[in-house]
Amino acid sequence: MNRQSIPLLSPAIGTHRELVSFHFGPAGSGQKIYIQSSLHADETPAMLTTVLLKRRLLELEKRGALNAEIVLVPVANPVGLGQYVLGQFLGRFDLGSGKNFNRHFMQFPKLTSRAKEVLGSDAKENRRTVRELIAAELTEQKPLTEFESLQLALLKLSFDADVVIDLHCSLEAAMHLYTSEAAWPEFEPLARYLGAQASLLATNSGGESFDETHGLLWWKLQQDMPADKPVPNGTIAVTVECRGQRDVSYEAAQEDADALVDYLAWRKAILIDAKPLPELPTPATPLAGSEQFYAPVSGILIHRAKIGDRIHVGQALFDIVDPLTDETTTVSSNTEGVFYMRRAIRFVTAGAPLGRVTGTRPFRTGVLLGA
Ligand SMILES: [Zn+2]
Repeated sequence: MNRQSIPLLSPAIGTHRELVSFHFGPAGSGQKIYIQSSLHADETPAMLTTVLLKRRLLELEKRGALNAEIVLVPVANPVGLGQYVLGQFLGRFDLGSGKNFNRHFMQFPKLTSRAKEVLGSDAKENRRTVRELIAAELTEQKPLTEFESLQLALLKLSFDADVVIDLHCSLEAAMHLYTSEAAWPEFEPLARYLGAQASLLATNSGGESFDETHGLLWWKLQQDMPADKPVPNGTIAVTVECRGQRDVSYEAAQEDADALVDYLAWRKAILIDAKPLPELPTPATPLAGSEQFYAPVSGILIHRAKIGDRIHVGQALFDIVDPLTDETTTVSSNTEGVFYMRRAIRFVTAGAPLGRVTGTRPFRTGVLLGA
């Protein structure tokens, strides 16, 4: 293992942050795996998982069992971790710009025209060429802010990986994940090992998130290139929500770290016997089929369903009680599926998002992710 550090752009005189990565296994083995955690800063369940994963990887590396280059970034957002304000972490948004740290990743606008000029008929060779083009575009970038330099540093570490795993957590949530339809067959085993209660699929959710930036880039090239210039899946990427923000325990983190090791063994990135594939707890569903609930009025929020519950149409999920009029407003589900995430608040303002239930029928359009 070797530890590397990338200095981020200094936002103000006298202030410097760094992005630290740990590199395992033989480089040039033909497979690269990139795993990061806590892009929204204070996502500690995911961070603890990487701590335990790092210990396993060190031991596996000593035994000569690593068959891929594996890059691990346990603290993907040191900028957000510095945003401890009035006793609270505010790690989701950059305080300077208001931007979500997992949105606005660059989208490689010049790639298609450049690829049309240089790609040939060999898919494998084309993958190598596209990675060179991406590297060139990344090198051309001149970040103006610390936020931009952080996003660029993460992309420089991950763009040439075959597999990108982005570990987050939600507010109060069951284990669930997001990926694209194209990548799903390759991540279905990961969903099984993790015991994912929901697997949400979208090709383009419109958020310019870290995982989607990788997958979309290759997907778009596949759509844009003529048949005689074949483009394979260069990078597949997944976002894993390691339950809720307060679900920090050695037991859960160990389960998740073991699931990641089993998945890497299944991919032959680690040369140990992969555990037999468990059942998939829930079939994948379209992200556009998930119902997002909003508070119609303000008041005290009472949850009527538990995280991970199977919900039927018409089932009451939330009560909102007005403490002055005594009136109770009930919000019920219009979809049948898994109640996979909800907000951690217990008093809501009108219009506040409350939680989500999966659904098999896509009905939402536009940007599918929350802010
Ligand atoms: Zn997150």
